[in-house]
Amino acid sequence: MDIKRVGVVGAGTMGNGIAHVFARSGYEVVLCDVEQSFLDRALETIAKNLEREVAKYKITAKEKSAALKRIEPALRRTKLADCDFVVEAATEKFEVKADIFRDLDKICRPQVTLASNTSSISITRLAALTGRADKVIGMHFFNPVPVMKLVELIRGLATSNETFKKVRDLATKLEKTPVEVNDAPGFVSNRVLMPLLNEAMYTVMEGVATAEAVDEVFKLGMAHPMGPLALADFIGLDVCLDIMRVLQDGLGDPKYRPCPLLIKMVDAGWLGKKSGRGFYTYQA
Ligand code: NAD
Repeated sequence: MDIKRVGVVGAGTMGNGIAHVFARSGYEVVLCDVEQSFLDRALETIAKNLEREVAKYKITAKEKSAALKRIEPALRRTKLADCDFVVEAATEKFEVKADIFRDLDKICRPQVTLASNTSSISITRLAALTGRADKVIGMHFFNPVPVMKLVELIRGLATSNETFKKVRDLATKLEKTPVEVNDAPGFVSNRVLMPLLNEAMYTVMEGVATAEAVDEVFKLGMAHPMGPLALADFIGLDVCLDIMRVLQDGLGDPKYRPCPLLIKMVDAGWLGKKSGRGFYTYQA
């Protein structure tokens, strides 16, 4: 089946980026979220980010407006019925994603592949909620999606080779570089990255160094483009906490215990860049 029309469930940080890259590559996109204001904000962000690409001569103004026209915002999930491929990028909570996958299984034609952009939740578990486990796969994009090259492709236990190849080709058409990994909590990227960010938070909590100093160490000493605390703010501290909890539950090792400072900051609503305050403060 040729993929022409793509559904994106969730229009937040990642969903708008995913809609952006599909639309830019010529796919029609149905972008779905639970509130009109979230959809409006996503379309505004996509327009702004496409404009940035026009300014850098990556695309023309004509291509920008054509890409925007290809995105149809939708509040009702039933609008995804005529999509040839759906990628879920909703909130990182198992119950939220489980509800979406059960529903997509009913709404979408049986041959349609369902992908999740989850950072850490088991693809095998999501797949088992559907009647098409062989057609469920992890398609893990990185933030900011229009810029980052990597797509981690996660094979659930039942994901077929056909599904894997189809989604690998799709990622290549989006000018991304797919890397194959097997299903395990946090996959490769977050299994390794999140404990690093979490440990950096411990050093701040214990007064070993300031957030600025920790970030300088990583930028200047390890050539990281961004320090771990600035990166945590950028990802979203709530997202970081959710991922640490998935690692802790899934792997059972106390080394994955979320840093108490992280928990406290999320409780306070200090979610990083998106809320204006995290390890750093941000202007709206
Ligand atoms: P976000 O909070 O910015 O956006 C999530 C969106 O999902 C919100 O707009 C919310 O309204 C919507 N949503 C919630 N329930 C929904 C439902 N039932 N139907 C439709 N929409 C629904 O979060 P995000 O950072 O975009 O993360 C989304 C997913 O991408 C998560 O699984 C996360 O782990 C993953 N991810 C995030 C990053 C990152 O850097 N932020 C990177 C890679 C993967």
